[in-house]
Amino acid sequence: MAELGSLLRELETAAGTCPPIPEVFGAETDNQLVQVRLGIASSLFAALQCKHPPTAGHSLRVALTCSAWATQMGLDEQQRDYLEIAALLHDLGMIGTPDGILAKPLPLSREEAAVIAQSRRMSLEILRHSCSALEILEIIEHVSDWYDGSDWYDGNSTPGRARGTDIPLGARMIAVVEAFDAMTTDHVYRPAMPHERAVSELYDGAGTQFDPELVRRFSEFRVADRRAVHEAVAWRWLRTLDPEVVNSYWELNCVPAPPRPADTDSLFQAKLLENMYDAVVFVDAHGVVTLWNRGAERLTGIPSSSVLQRQWHPELLKMADEKRQSVTEADCPVTCALRSGVQSLRRLTISGRSEQPVAVDSHTIPVTNATGTTLGAILLFHDASSETSLEQRCQNLHEKATQDALTQVANRAEFDRVHEMFVAAHQEQGVPCSLIMMDLDRFKQVNDTYGHQAGDRAIISLATLLKGARQPGDLVARYGGEEFVMLCADCDNATASRRAEQIRRALAQMPQPAMDGRPVTASFGITEVQPGDTPETMLRRADRALLMAKSQGRNQVVQLGVGAMAAGERAPRACSDTAADAPYLIQKTFVTPVPVKMAIEKLRGFVSDRKARILNTEAHRVTLEIHDSRPGRLRRLTDRSLAFRLELRLSEHRDGGAGSGGGAARTEMRVRISPSRTRDRRRQGIADRARDMLASLRSYLMATEVESDDASSATRRPLS
Ligand code: GH3
Ligand code: MG
Ligand code: MG
Repeated sequence: MAELGSLLRELETAAGTCPPIPEVFGAETDNQLVQVRLGIASSLFAALQCKHPPTAGHSLRVALTCSAWATQMGLDEQQRDYLEIAALLHDLGMIGTPDGILAKPLPLSREEAAVIAQSRRMSLEILRHSCSALEILEIIEHVSDWYDGSDWYDGNSTPGRARGTDIPLGARMIAVVEAFDAMTTDHVYRPAMPHERAVSELYDGAGTQFDPELVRRFSEFRVADRRAVHEAVAWRWLRTLDPEVVNSYWELNCVPAPPRPADTDSLFQAKLLENMYDAVVFVDAHGVVTLWNRGAERLTGIPSSSVLQRQWHPELLKMADEKRQSVTEADCPVTCALRSGVQSLRRLTISGRSEQPVAVDSHTIPVTNATGTTLGAILLFHDASSETSLEQRCQNLHEKATQDALTQVANRAEFDRVHEMFVAAHQEQGVPCSLIMMDLDRFKQVNDTYGHQAGDRAIISLATLLKGARQPGDLVARYGGEEFVMLCADCDNATASRRAEQIRRALAQMPQPAMDGRPVTASFGITEVQPGDTPETMLRRADRALLMAKSQGRNQVVQLGVGAMAAGERAPRACSDTAADAPYLIQKTFVTPVPVKMAIEKLRGFVSDRKARILNTEAHRVTLEIHDSRPGRLRRLTDRSLAFRLELRLSEHRDGGAGSGGGAARTEMRVRISPSRTRDRRRQGIADRARDMLASLRSYLMATEVESDDASSATRRPLS
């Protein structure tokens, strides 16, 4: 106490113009000094003062002595700050120590010593919540450490405990000063020692409890002329401590402020970038790579350390476009984004981590500021290899399902599917379309003579020719074995025949290497879609034409039927759909320039293709029943199957009169179409379908119309 009193007096004298410090040492003086030194944290010291004033007094003396000693030792301003605060508060934990122990004369029991030791840890705990300077906490943590590493209350060495100069200098200094203060102060359990005795006690503990060098320096400090030092301390504590600096160590009164939005944002951004599976790359306005996240490392196998701050170049990742063409600097998405400020989405290929090309979806986003200046570009890569392989697999599956493996033209199933739509669409639009059907001639012999492989080569040759002859909208398919079909869009019979003839000739002139250079030939059957045709009727007609080509000697083109266009105008559609009052829907008389026998042959094709049921034949009169159904795509209510009855009367005529022996024979045929079921008479569109059927029949017969006597004419009469 005497020491503090004299120190305070020295301070007062030294400070000169400082506010007067009371003569008598007391709590008020303490408070003033502590307030200057601890600022907003002085309440911590006040708490200690309330709990145990002697400990508070001890702390203040230690702090002032340390401050003076540090000044003499020439420690820098900041080290002194830390030391003074640590010294003032190193015993703060005593506020949690039972009074019984604090007031008890030494020696303390082991348990009581442990409680004292615990109080130091408590000091630390309290300060951790309010002190922002780690250095201060570190000093307090080690104040009780013995220089040789042993525990102060049992003298045993604790492995891993700080020792020697590993103990912070401030902690070693406080240890010396507080021991000296304790020994030179009166206690309930022991009177104050003379200073010399206390110094010799310090020397006793040098090397074990205390840093020997510091003990030596402290004893020198004790005897030195301390006037100048005290003057400096007085100025420091009473005049020059800047409240802002003093308060800067404390987080008191401040409810921990929520992180500033910017900090939160950047934290989120950092977390997001690091954990994103996709690759993210930032390139600045000068083309320098400034960010390369983990996703980029994972995708490319290139560590960020080897690309950061390097110049960006598409070659870095061996970027290639979808056609596997290398991406040049000029069309690099990053360069474009930096140059033009335009973002882009592209499917690219880059060199992956195993140096294999990897398909990626790239998204390049230019970054501009408020004034539009480009600051850089963000490049995002999403690994699309799995999607590519899925797309590829789907494509393969589709090809497998629709293509013929040997020839790579459509297979039969694909032909059936397309044919139906093809016929429907052309009929709907009233545009002609034709079907070419072909079959290699005497192919069994080819196989037998040259082997199946040679046969396969010949099949491929024909497929190749067909692919070459294909026009937009056409479909080439392998119908089976050595038979092919070709659907010709917007193509009438005559054009289809010409095209088939070209193919026939080219094939016949094409030497087959696997057949000793000999060519193969094929026969062709052609037909054009007719009104009322279904895919089946069209196909059967083409097949019959093909059979005719075979039977007429092979290696030739035969066409059957007359297309809707060639057959001339369609029957007018103006007549009423309501046929309730009509005995028949339509009646026409045709003439075909062949004898009845031949006409009946042609009629057979119609009967067979339309799957007509012959209800009655009597002399030259035939009654047929036909169920007419439209192809699937057009199927509406009105397209439901309708049953028609066709009554045909055939009569042969020769130039010079019917039944006369001379002149060319021609067959006249009166055709009458009526609904089979009375209930169908009111069906919408029934008259149109009857007319289509009539036009189809005329095509089969290659006939012309001689008389206009359809349902709209005056000849209409009730069915009886
Ligand atoms: P035609 O002129 O009357 O058509 O006589 P053809 O010998 O060609 O008779 P047909 O059309 O009935 O015989 C077809 C032969 O084609 C039977 C079969 O052995 C052969 N064939 C079918 N598919 C293949 C194939 O994929 N490769 C080979 N090499 N031969 C096939
Ligand atoms: Mg065949
Ligand atoms: Mg054949």
